[in-house]
Amino acid sequence: MRSFALEIVTPDRVFYTGPAQSLTVDTPLGKMGVLYQHEPVVAALAPSEIKVIIEDKERTAVCTGGFLEVLGEKVYIFAQSIEWLEDIDAQRAQEALERAKRHLEAAQRENNKYEIQRHVWALERAQARLRSLKGRAEARFGEGKSDGGDTSGGSSGGAEGERR
Ligand code: ATP
Repeated sequence: MRSFALEIVTPDRVFYTGPAQSLTVDTPLGKMGVLYQHEPVVAALAPSEIKVIIEDKERTAVCTGGFLEVLGEKVYIFAQSIEWLEDIDAQRAQEALERAKRHLEAAQRENNKYEIQRHVWALERAQARLRSLKGRAEARFGEGKSDGGDTSGGSSGGAEGERR
């Protein structure tokens, strides 16, 4: 499969820059696949998984929202925040979820619209992370594997061009 140049950035770091053979993202209109020479497009990204094939290996990242842009030979993802699935800290995500719920309830009691929105977004970020971890655990259970930290198939940490 032919590669295209992919760049994934967040407000504070370059998450990935290098070649990719395919990309699958979730947009509000549904799943969207990107291959070499995809037509130019800009699309919003839902808090969801991004699947990317790099050197014939599929990797999954969890993005908490952002934009995709296909521009000529290059594909950009501007993500609010993004992590490789195997790097997600489940306990941290669970704590973030519980904190967001508590703060959301307090904001709702005070009818503070700004705070409500802030904590809804925090809740959605934590939910996206936990959903992906759960999906991975279920997929492994289906394959008869334990979820004991094996990141094979997911991790190609040495992929050319990667910066984290
Ligand atoms: P928290 O309250 O735990 O920081 P958050 O949703 O507010 O969660 P973000 O603002 O989305 O966090 O992200 C801040 C940074 O921390 C980003 O670099 C993001 O990739 C990373 N991050 C957030 N949650 C996790 C997690 N559960 N596991 C690994 N990295 C995380």
